[in-house]
Amino acid sequence: MFGRALDIVFPRSCAGCRAGSWPFCQTCVEALEPLGPPWCRRCGRPAAVDVETCRDCPPAPISSARAAFAYAGPARSAVHRLKFSGWRGVGSALAAAIAAVGPPPADAVTWVPLARRRRAERGFDQARVLAKALARLVDLPAVAFVRRVQATPPQARRGREERLLAMRDAFRCIPGRIAPARVLLVDDVLTTGATASACAEALADAGALEVHLLTACRSFSGRLTGLAGRPPPSGGGRPAPAAYTQACFRPGLWLPGDPPR
Ligand SMILES: [Zn+2]
Ligand SMILES: [Zn+2]
Repeated sequence: MFGRALDIVFPRSCAGCRAGSWPFCQTCVEALEPLGPPWCRRCGRPAAVDVETCRDCPPAPISSARAAFAYAGPARSAVHRLKFSGWRGVGSALAAAIAAVGPPPADAVTWVPLARRRRAERGFDQARVLAKALARLVDLPAVAFVRRVQATPPQARRGREERLLAMRDAFRCIPGRIAPARVLLVDDVLTTGATASACAEALADAGALEVHLLTACRSFSGRLTGLAGRPPPSGGGRPAPAAYTQACFRPGLWLPGDPPR
């Protein structure tokens, strides 16, 4: 109810540019880079043809991963808006996009929590905002099963192995909370998966047998190779989206003061 009142005071606008209509205006829709097949079936990384696994698959405790968009353009703006303003309208726009990727059957939704101090500084936890909105859409409970005992250290110059090591023991089960067998783990952006994987390990300790990671965006650190032969999407007169028609390197994904996760 409170949320609806806020929507009247601050009417919902485009999550990407804030100027157009909610959830994404036509201009932003055309600039979005939705991720879809052909891809890695396990982690949803775009590929020239469907493959079972790939070298960018997040580490083992994560059963599967899907992201709605590449971390670029309006989707990236939306994530930043969510992160730094906690706008509910942005949260529900991104959650709707996550729901549209078709989450696997599950028993509960949870999220990669921020450390308590970070959450206190910010006043909210953006992954929790997304998880709550998604839970409503897929009609599942949103429950915290783990807490973060260690904030993410700056990782910009760390390699994959170092990141994994640094994140070990960053999450702990919440005493007395038993996770169900199948859990949807929500976060805003998937980068290496080190943070989400550490969180998934704690979820497994809490009883989860399958942890499916769902994020609003996925950032690709290296080149997206092997996509030159990617056929344009079939049907419709719309031109193929610009995403992944060329192998591209994405530098400077993070704004100053925004540690990668
Ligand atoms: Zn827009
Ligand atoms: Zn993969």
